Amino acid sequence: MSNCDETLEELQRFLDKELPDGMLQSIQTHLGSCTDCLQAFEFHAELRTVIARKVLAEEMPEGLMDKIRSCFGDELTEDMP
Ligand SMILES: [Zn+2]
Repeated sequence: MSNCDETLEELQRFLDKELPDGMLQSIQTHLGSCTDCLQAFEFHAELRTVIARKVLAEEMPEGLMDKIRSCFGDELTEDMP
């Protein structure tokens, strides 16, 4: 398998690492020789990183603060942002 349509179709599963080794390899080979698919792959990989960072940045501090509050009580954390 080394055509663009199939590669793009499997891109999400490739990023999820859900593909069997054989297909993983043929996609990697295709990405090595096809700039179009490589760009699409990098775009989606980057997108996932950005989303993961955004989720971490927005949800971690809130959840963390709740945890701190439940451990130490509101008085200890009322001066905290
Ligand atoms: Zn291609």
